[in-house]
Amino acid sequence: MADYERLLDNVYRNLPERKGTDERFECPLADVMLQGNKSFIKNFDSLCTALRRTPAELSKWLSRELAAPVSIEGGRLCVNSKVQSRLLNEKIQEYCNASVICKECGKPDTRLESSGDRGVKVLVCEACGARQPVKK
Ligand SMILES: [Zn+2]
Repeated sequence: MADYERLLDNVYRNLPERKGTDERFECPLADVMLQGNKSFIKNFDSLCTALRRTPAELSKWLSRELAAPVSIEGGRLCVNSKVQSRLLNEKIQEYCNASVICKECGKPDTRLESSGDRGVKVLVCEACGARQPVKK
């Protein structure tokens, strides 16, 4: 076993330094359920956690994009409209690209800051320090 451990040790030592530029962040998928005239995102809580946004931020944005009232019900998002899973996921992907992923380094380790300039939001990257204005 000692040989194996030594081998493992060598493997780790010889790994190139992690720069992270080759890792692409995969936007998580929404688990959508349609019920009557409502749509539910069942995994809304974990979606928000993965995107590092508060449920309030993401739900407000979705409500505006879908032009439908939304509410949060016990970790799920309820959209007061029939929205197909594909469209919801497209919207979330859009949000991810516009307001989560850093344009400089492609990492999702970002936070939104209000610049105080007419409510303009700035995306601040905690990985590379880039600051980018967010349009929506
Ligand atoms: Zn960055």
